[in-house]
Amino acid sequence: MLHFTCDLCGQQVGDQRFVARLEVYPAYDPELITEEDLDADHLQEIAEIVEQMELTGESPLDDCGTKKFRFDLCPSCQKRFVKDPLAKHSFNRMNFSEN
Ligand SMILES: [Zn+2]
Repeated sequence: MLHFTCDLCGQQVGDQRFVARLEVYPAYDPELITEEDLDADHLQEIAEIVEQMELTGESPLDDCGTKKFRFDLCPSCQKRFVKDPLAKHSFNRMNFSEN
């Protein structure tokens, strides 16, 4: 049997497990792609990038590509997460500490 730990608090999660999925990707307007973008020079560029990826095993496009996150949450962290998915409260606390 698989055991899950909560990605927020690190506690073992029992039967009541929640999964949060997050996807971050560049928003672009398809109409902004011009014929210029599709010409042969760019194909050459892409071919070089692909070639480099094969050599290094790394993608130079990773930084602007789609990022997918998946978190396992315990019930109490699920409640906190849905109230503040981006953890803005804790982010603010870090930056504007009143100590
Ligand atoms: Zn938790």
